[in-house]
Amino acid sequence: MPEERPHVVIVGAGFGGLRAARALRRTPVQVTLVDRRNYHLFQPLLYQVATAGLSPEDIAHPVRAIFRRQRNFAFRLAEVVGVDLPGRVLETSTGRLPYDWLILAPGGASHFFGLESVEQNGLPLKEIEDAVAIRNQVLRMFETAVQEPDPDRRRGMLNFVVVGGGPTGVESAGALSELIRLVLTKDFPKLDVKDVRVILLEATDRLLGAMPERLREVTAEILWRKHVEVRFGAQVTRFDGERVVLRGEEVIPARTLIWAAGVRAAPLAALLGAELGPQGRVRVGPGLQLPASDRVFVIGDAAWLEDERGEGLPMMAPVAQQQADHAARSIQRALRGEPTLPFRYKNPGSMATIGRNAAVVHVKGLQVSGFFAWVAWLVLHIVLLIGFRNRLLVLINWAWDYFLYDRAVRLIYAHEIHTAPAETRRARQGTAEAERRAG
Ligand SMILES: Cc1cc2nc3c(=O)[nH]c(=O)nc-3n(C[C@H](O)[C@H](O)[C@H](O)COP(=O)(O)OP(=O)(O)OC[C@H]3O[C@@H](n4cnc5c(N)ncnc54)[C@H](O)[C@@H]3O)c2cc1C
Repeated sequence: MPEERPHVVIVGAGFGGLRAARALRRTPVQVTLVDRRNYHLFQPLLYQVATAGLSPEDIAHPVRAIFRRQRNFAFRLAEVVGVDLPGRVLETSTGRLPYDWLILAPGGASHFFGLESVEQNGLPLKEIEDAVAIRNQVLRMFETAVQEPDPDRRRGMLNFVVVGGGPTGVESAGALSELIRLVLTKDFPKLDVKDVRVILLEATDRLLGAMPERLREVTAEILWRKHVEVRFGAQVTRFDGERVVLRGEEVIPARTLIWAAGVRAAPLAALLGAELGPQGRVRVGPGLQLPASDRVFVIGDAAWLEDERGEGLPMMAPVAQQQADHAARSIQRALRGEPTLPFRYKNPGSMATIGRNAAVVHVKGLQVSGFFAWVAWLVLHIVLLIGFRNRLLVLINWAWDYFLYDRAVRLIYAHEIHTAPAETRRARQGTAEAERRAG
């Protein structure tokens, strides 16, 4: 690779970063992709790892394998701790990295809205470690409950609370209820299934807020049929590991709280010294660049940009991918001496699955629910997964679960017991780092 090629550094091997690196494969630049983990994670299927349907390896793919054939590509495993904008240098845990253009795609992090007890005792779902921690917790609660003589304590162990009625909460609650009803009740015949509750708490009066009303109603109906108790207007204020307390002081005895209620930008966003918008996301200009430097693009979950109606773009994979294409095209234009164009998002629609044979799909005004929506969801997710091996493994697992009413991955990894979730630890480290740098 000739030395004089401009250097494009990309932070994050998620949906945005991966797409940007690929889009630059035929551009006369040298690309370095930096991530603190050596794999791309397919987050939309994380909840299936949490509910024992898939193994972590099925939904993650090593970055070096993905880019094996891309000649202008290099990977660096490192944590990014800051950016020297005037000097055009990225600061990482393994040293400084000069750039000509920088694309920042560090994604999002769970947001607990200052509820410290929930952050400490609840289980977020953002990383592989989080999903394994949830799986461990659910399986461990069944093992503990079957040995518990006191009926009240036993019921507390068998109450599973999911907070947040967005896609992650809905999908997790549906899959958890099926894991329990279709599989765990067979593994634990001594437990009374009437003692088991999956409770989905939503602070507003609607599930899947971005979906049209009919699909929102269908979703609530399907969840009820799948034995998920949906509670609207239910706002969690505390969770001490044994009791979930709602606003109004109602108490739900439960040992497990899965937090799917809030997302914010990754801690790196706060380290840039840029103006932040809602959810701590970096306010970017119309071309996705930082106002302080047109050589730095921020894309995906970490970026805040409003659409024509003044609404922030959603934190979803298609936004990150389209913004990645835009940033790559802008660099190609700059190399030709052309100005950057404003970014326009084309909404491809949205979908969510609610377990076996049930999903809702909203595409270009078309509203579909039930079996056909579910098949569409399955096909799309298989197509979007990276790597033939992962696709095959996921297909085999899904077929196994579907026909045998089983979940293949019901292992408790002992070393995961009640460690602080990885996400929380890293967010705390990021905040500490931001404070240290701010002096
Ligand atoms: C459980 C779950 C389910 C979801 N389901 C859907 C869905 O069904 N459909 C949909 O469209 N979207 C879904 N999303 C949202 C979607 O995954 C995100 O919008 C998308 O991943 C954003 O892409 P990104 O490139 O901005 O960030 P990410 O894909 O999150 O990638 C960020 C990358 O940056 C790395 N990184 C972060 N900080 C640093 C640092 N300081 N140093 C080094 N590396 C760093 C991370 O390790 C990560 O690899 C879901 C998200 C979750 C958590």
